[in-house]
Amino acid sequence: MNTLNLSIIIPLFNEDESLSELTDWITKVMNRESYTYEIIFVNDGSTDDSWKVIEELHSKNNNVKAISFRRNQGKSAGLNQGFVAASGNVVITMDADLQDSPEEIPGLYRMITKDGYDLVSGWKQKRYDPLSKTIPTKLFNAATRRISKIQLNDFNCGLKAYRLEVVQNIEVYGEMHRYIPFLAKNKGFVKIGEKVVQHQARKYGVTKFGLDRFINGFLDLATLAVIGKFGRRPMHFFGAAGTLMFVLSAFLLAYLGGYKLWAMSAGETVRLITDNPIFYILLALNVIGVQLFGVGFIAELLLKESNKKHDYTIDKKLGL
Ligand code: UDP
Ligand code: MG
Repeated sequence: MNTLNLSIIIPLFNEDESLSELTDWITKVMNRESYTYEIIFVNDGSTDDSWKVIEELHSKNNNVKAISFRRNQGKSAGLNQGFVAASGNVVITMDADLQDSPEEIPGLYRMITKDGYDLVSGWKQKRYDPLSKTIPTKLFNAATRRISKIQLNDFNCGLKAYRLEVVQNIEVYGEMHRYIPFLAKNKGFVKIGEKVVQHQARKYGVTKFGLDRFINGFLDLATLAVIGKFGRRPMHFFGAAGTLMFVLSAFLLAYLGGYKLWAMSAGETVRLITDNPIFYILLALNVIGVQLFGVGFIAELLLKESNKKHDYTIDKKLGL
């Protein structure tokens, strides 16, 4: 069979000035290394001339392929659609803005094919971005390392390489493109490597992400941490939290009741249980406990009905 060596996926949103320069550069590297390849542009609802440029590039070079969204859907959607379309043995993702260098592709390719990595993430050790971005990024990477237990320095680097099987098994949605190594790890692709890559300042156009990237990023991290662990067994999460609430409220109830009985037997004048503030804490804990149980139960019901009950990836088979 005649599979391609490489699929190069490039999500883009209003990058018309960069596209032909980028394509020329990639083509040069591909020809020099004699790779068979496809470039898949995913036009994420650009409102400039990006699509026109892509049509021209395609008419000159049939290794250039493209998909266009009707409206802007975000980088994650772009990557995901590229992953669906990719057929090369090794899949590369890179940004369209010329910040990532195509010269890195051969090195990444060899790390997948020769060194047996599932995923190799670029590391922009020396970055050419404003401080307002590099400092929060350090924090973001430290938190992600801690929670995902993947030792990468630069999770969100746009330049990455994958074994085809990896991209066929992960789904990038929302803004989860920042955490693809974490998504891959949750699917059992644990051989994750890193390669220091050249980074350049943006040559044309402007960045498409504002400071809200960090807020959204941390929320997504929390989601992933919980989903990776409890996504297939939500009751274990909600049920445990609900039980904790119940146990606490039972203790408080025993204390209130016990105290009242003791005080009565000692002949003291005692106030009503409902006059004690602890009663209301108890009540709240009880209600929250029921709610948590209910949420866990609904989550289990949804899971039972969904076609994603079984989310495992098969690695090898014998005699089957
Ligand atoms: N991008 C996209 N859809 C979006 C936002 C960005 O396809 O909604 C693309 C963008 O065109 C670029 C890549 O994602 O190719 C990275 O974006 P950008 O360079 O703006 O991010 P930064 O380098 O500033 O992190
Ligand atoms: Mg960029």
